[in-house]
Amino acid sequence: MNKFDYMERHGFEQVIYFHDKTTGLKGITVIHDTTLGPALGGTRLWNYACEDDAVLDCLRLARGMTFKNAAAGLNLGGGKTVLIGDASTVKSEAYFRALGRYVQSLNGRYITAEDVNTTTKDMDYILMETDYVVGLEDKSGNPSPITALGAFHGIRASLKHRFNDDDISKYTFAVQGVGETGSALIGYLKEANAKKIYFSEINPKNIKKMQELHPDCEMVTPDAIYSLEVDVFVPCALGAVMNEKTIPELKCAIVAGTANNVLEDEERDGLLLKDRGILYAPDFVINAGGVINVYHELHGYNRERVIKDVRKIYDRLLEIFKIAEKENVHNQKAALVYATNRMKTIAAIRSNYIIR
Ligand code: NAD
Repeated sequence: MNKFDYMERHGFEQVIYFHDKTTGLKGITVIHDTTLGPALGGTRLWNYACEDDAVLDCLRLARGMTFKNAAAGLNLGGGKTVLIGDASTVKSEAYFRALGRYVQSLNGRYITAEDVNTTTKDMDYILMETDYVVGLEDKSGNPSPITALGAFHGIRASLKHRFNDDDISKYTFAVQGVGETGSALIGYLKEANAKKIYFSEINPKNIKKMQELHPDCEMVTPDAIYSLEVDVFVPCALGAVMNEKTIPELKCAIVAGTANNVLEDEERDGLLLKDRGILYAPDFVINAGGVINVYHELHGYNRERVIKDVRKIYDRLLEIFKIAEKENVHNQKAALVYATNRMKTIAAIRSNYIIR
């Protein structure tokens, strides 16, 4: 892979490699775009097969954060850190403090948070060395319930757009995956008296928890979840679950959930869903509750303000659905248009000089 070509093609600002010889910490930070503010994105720890895989993953994830943060109305750019290593052996206080020192050396251009294989406890070690870390245990805490709340409002917006009625009690749902976000989302749907909820899950512990907590929700096999006759398919497990195989099976009117990278191929599957008349709520817009939650740590964390901000996902999605109709594009593309428009508009208003 020619990295400079890739950076130029997708507008990346900076790629930083770091290695700490005492702890063996080895990683990459990518700053994609800081038009709206400092780049924010989590630290992912993964045993990548090779260095190029790690760099490409970091580049793609950082770019994704630019659009997610822009669409969420946050004054943040997009960035990401990946650490190359085996999560079961490399972690220690020194390892994360060494990372904190690299983050600090970027002087606020990049703010980190937790991601796959890193926890709020690890963030506390990073905090010992830098001011530029969010997602702390005693501040915003576990993001999953807030992500689920955002998806709940996103589902309501999708129902409003599709049926002109967002009363959850009139509709049926198929939830794929009842882990952290899926189970919390089912809680919100039940509170709003959802007519019927089906779910699928592969982890016996989570199945048992679900059956104890919500015995009226009906479990189906992981394969059967796609073809259920429901109003909303709610992906809360893996990425790439909407693809050439699964989209033809769907009998729902809406796909809206918490999962990341739901479309296996954004262009192909965005169009497939549009052509089938199925309303897709773009993943990076509907699941932004978590990043909205950590963002508020930068301005003095206040849970009520977070909840108010997360509720805005409802209007934001309605606006994106309108763009898609007006421009005759699929919804994922409309979400990118929405995010890019915000970046262009805000960059333009900063063209005049003011003293602040
Ligand atoms: P989780 O690991 O707690 O839950 C996922 C659940 O899906 C697990 O219980 C797992 O057993 C189940 N699962 C895996 N494969 C399955 C299959 N084939 N069929 C049915 N169930 C299956 O993860 P989570 O935090 O709830 O995140 C879920 C998705 O939401 C991920 O894509 C994640 O990237 C995305 N997301 C999460 C957050 C957050 O705040 N946690 C924020 C944004 C996006």
